[in-house]
Amino acid sequence: MQLELKEVAKRLKAAKKIIVTAHVIPDGDAVGSSLALYRMLRALGKDVRVFIDDTIRKNLETLPDFDHIEQSTDGEKLEADLVVILDTQLDRIGGVRQATEGLPLLNIDHHVTNQGKGVDLYLDADAAATCEIIFELSKVLKVKLDRETATCLYTGIATDTGFFNYANTRPSTLRAAAELLEAGVEPHKVSEQIEKKPLADVVGECEALKTLKIFFEGKAAGLFIDEELSKKIESTEGFIDLIRIIDGVEVAFLLHCKAENFCRVSMRSKTVDVSKIASTLGGGGHIRAAGCSINAPFDEAKMIITHAIGEAINNAQ
Ligand code: AMP
Ligand code: MN
Ligand code: MN
Repeated sequence: MQLELKEVAKRLKAAKKIIVTAHVIPDGDAVGSSLALYRMLRALGKDVRVFIDDTIRKNLETLPDFDHIEQSTDGEKLEADLVVILDTQLDRIGGVRQATEGLPLLNIDHHVTNQGKGVDLYLDADAAATCEIIFELSKVLKVKLDRETATCLYTGIATDTGFFNYANTRPSTLRAAAELLEAGVEPHKVSEQIEKKPLADVVGECEALKTLKIFFEGKAAGLFIDEELSKKIESTEGFIDLIRIIDGVEVAFLLHCKAENFCRVSMRSKTVDVSKIASTLGGGGHIRAAGCSINAPFDEAKMIITHAIGEAINNAQ
């Protein structure tokens, strides 16, 4: 069922005990929206727990109330009046899905590929970030944003828009950001915190760039992090941005070997709808930024993703 934002607010107000969760491989929007909603619901006197069933990038650890995130359910069966799933669909919340089985689910998301299976969904595919939706929700809930909550929201909006560079940045995104600054956010501090990297990752970035391959008459560019290179790198965050800027490249992608027979794909596009490519491979995302996992050896995954991107580029012509 598709909900209005007013109905979302009503359900949150009606619940006493609430679990907030977001997607695995959590990004700034997943963590920022979870912590902002946690803080807003706490301000309304709710009993709230946040579960994100995965390791979280070090750069996000400075977000207010980060220590309240529980990173595993430990197989425990959880109790709540309502489970709020943020920035993804039901099948990307890891072990939290089983731990909350049978509880009422409310999903708030901005991914166009979210079909709302098994949940009541508020979807705004035009919102730049789930944090932008949570910002709007704060108005409906009449919760005043303090500097800490505003910092969580700003971090999610800034990271999902590439610091207001991507096509998902809309006038209301910048208006929200302006209000968040008025609430006390210091944008330079957020960007310094989010963008800093350990030396090893910058060195790894140089190594990764050496794997660059150009396909389809310059329309696609890929980076290939195999098992060996993967061991040297803590995070591949931002690697894809190094190649999406290449003149003439319409689709940039990164293939990352995470384990034997398990590879992650990230895609960025200027024209082609990469969310469709990701969906056909069991993943999802947005028109211009999407991802998926491929359960295959690295070389096979390389062929699968390159072929799928080639087809999409051909079909778009
Ligand atoms: P990434 O390349 O990991 O930054 O992801 C780009 C976008 O695609 C983000 O909005 C992700 O939430 C989404 N995405 C990535 N991987 C998947 C997946 N396996 N299933 C659904 N959505 C995904
Ligand atoms: Mn996300
Ligand atoms: Mn998002």
